[in-house]
Order: sequence, then structure tokens, then C-alpha cells
Amino acid sequence: MLAQVITLSESQREEDIVLANQIITELLPQTGKSVRIGITGVPGVGKSTFIDAFGKHLTEQSKKVAVLAVDPSSTKTKGSILGDKTRMENLSKDSNAFIRPSATGTTLGGVADRTHETILLCEAAGFDVIIVETVGVGQSETAVRNMVDFFLLLMLAGAGDELQGIKKGIMEMADAVVITKADGENKKMADQARANYQHALHLLNTSATGWVPKVTTSSALENRGVAEVWTLIEAYLEMTRASGYFESNRKEQDLIWFKDSLQNQLRKQLAQSEKIRNSIARFETQIENRQMLPSAAAQKIIEEFLKVSS
Ligand code: GDP
Repeated sequence: MLAQVITLSESQREEDIVLANQIITELLPQTGKSVRIGITGVPGVGKSTFIDAFGKHLTEQSKKVAVLAVDPSSTKTKGSILGDKTRMENLSKDSNAFIRPSATGTTLGGVADRTHETILLCEAAGFDVIIVETVGVGQSETAVRNMVDFFLLLMLAGAGDELQGIKKGIMEMADAVVITKADGENKKMADQARANYQHALHLLNTSATGWVPKVTTSSALENRGVAEVWTLIEAYLEMTRASGYFESNRKEQDLIWFKDSLQNQLRKQLAQSEKIRNSIARFETQIENRQMLPSAAAQKIIEEFLKVSS
């Protein structure tokens, strides 16, 4: 039933979304009680292996775990690289776990369009921990950061480029960094990387929470350093709940969600009118030819839109 409502909520049909929103609104009192964790990292860093072990660690403590994978590439390829459930072999067989590749929005900026709604649905269904997984290459991370309580960045040790295509901005968003695959020959390098990143994070991060981002190492294959990440998150929760940040952050996130939705829906509405679409195309040409001021063009579009919709 949960999967069905999520599908309804991700539908592109207006009436489906209206119905889904009605359902979620009624469920609101049952939501908000989970711990929401964002996990990101480049493809191959070991996200699914880590989440598999981490999720198992939680279900062994009788927690119900939902994993939502946000895949920005799926809108282009129409297929989901994160959708493959076999990537989390143990967790996908666990009756206390729910794994769901989340369809990403087609709207610009709507990368994680309905993920927030999906989080609420999972909470209403009784999930205690919700993991939102993204491939840390840009776009979707900020959106995901704005819907989770704790943001975890997975990194490889010694993979050449220090930041491995992970944008500096993503490092700044992290509450913790886990150096993955800290086993075998890689272990020493991982420890070295841990020290380097811990140093870098100290310089980078001036978090409003007072929390100093932690760097740890882990081998998901050998199931080491996995339980420690949960301990870390518990410490973070304790600290931010005591200070009131946890609650105030969630409230702020809801307001950001509202403003983002407003922008996305406006954009959608604009694109729905053929007349507006034509004007946009015409203005784009004029802007390219430097015949029109971009901000003035935007203003004209809004004026036209108000006329069309009145
Ligand atoms: P994702 O693309 O980030 O989800 O990465 P995967 O979890 O699919 O892992 C990519 C590759 O790294 C796979 O071949 C895994 O077996 C391997 N891998 C993942 N975690 C570990 C680990 O802790 N140690 C080692 N040695 N290999 C790992």
C-alpha cells in the first residue's frame, strides 16, 4: 500500500497529485517521528554496500528502515541506476526494510520533486529511520540536505583528486564523512585520508548547530565502522534535540519546501500555456542576440502569464 501511494504521489497527473496530497495531509499527525539521514557519494564509493550493512545494523535493533534513492540521471536515461534492489542484498530481504528508487522530477530544479512527500509517507507507515541516497555529483544534494536531519558523505581514500569530483559545497553540508573500503591494503590510506579530511572539515565548517563534523573510516564488507556511524548520529540527535536546533531546523525545512514548491509549480504552470512557451522561446532568441534584457524578458513573461490565467 505504501508503494502504491508513493507511486500516486510521483504521478505526473494533476488529479493523482491532488489525491496523494489529500492522503498525506490526513497522515500529517502520524509523520515527523523518524530520523532522516541523507547519504551521498560518487558512484562506486560504496553507498549501497554501506547502506546494506548500516540498515541491517538498525533492523537488528528492531528499527524499521526505509531507503529512498534519488537518481538525477534517471530523467535523462529513463532508467534508474540506483533502482536495482539487488544492490542491497541483505536489506532487500529484510521485512523491516523498505527500498524504493524515487523517480526524480522532470521540472528543472525539481530533482527530488516528491521525495519529501515520500519521507512523510514512510513515517506514517511506521519507519523509524529514513535514508535518502543520492549520487554526490551536484544538483540533488542541496535539495536532499534540506529534507534530512543528518547528512553523511562517503569518500574514497587516495583516489587521486582529493575531492573526487565532490564539490566543495557538498563537503560543507556534511555532518560526517565516512572513508569507505578501509580494509586490506586500503586501510592505511583510509586512516591517512581520515586525518586529512578531519583537518579540512575543521577549516570549512562553521555549523549553526555547534556540531563539529566527524570523519570516520569504515569497511562495509567486513562490517567495521558501521555501528559507529549510528552512534555518531545518535550523539548528533541528542545534542541538536537538547539545543532545540532539531525542531527549528525541521520547521525551517518545511518553509523551504513550501517556497521551492511554489517556484516549481509556477514553473510548471508557465510551461503549460502554449502561448507562454512560444514567448519564452522568442525571448530566448532575442536574449541570445542581445536584443533583450533577461530580467525584462522575465517580467514580460509574468505579465503575459497573469493575463492568460485571469
Ligand atoms: P555505490 O555505487 O556507491 O553504491 O557503490 P557499491 O556499494 O555498489 O560498491 C562499489 C564497489 O565497491 C563494489 O564492487 C563493492 O563490492 C565494493 N565495496 C563496497 N564497499 C566495500 C568495502 O567496504 N570494502 C571493499 N574492499 N570493497 C567495497
